[in-house]
Amino acid sequence: MEERTDINRELMLDANATAGVLYEIFGVEMTASPTECANCGNEGEIGGLLAFVQGPGIVLRCSACENVVLRIVQTPEAVYLDARGAVYLRLAR
Ligand SMILES: [Zn+2]
Repeated sequence: MEERTDINRELMLDANATAGVLYEIFGVEMTASPTECANCGNEGEIGGLLAFVQGPGIVLRCSACENVVLRIVQTPEAVYLDARGAVYLRLAR
């Protein structure tokens, strides 16, 4: 497998930790929600994205091209969600 230098896999979160944070923010179980990478068009579940702790937030990257799909930063007052790397994010009602 090709060696990547731009990603520190030691900062990778496990899926359960990611699911907990997403549930806290969205109030729904998110890991099975479908999303599509804006960079390569790869479609998959949010739970299948690569999650990293980075600075004050969490970064979810495409498992195919490693493009940043979602970036979540939590402050005491608010949650910042940067979803420009996703074509869409489907939240079940
Ligand atoms: Zn991608």
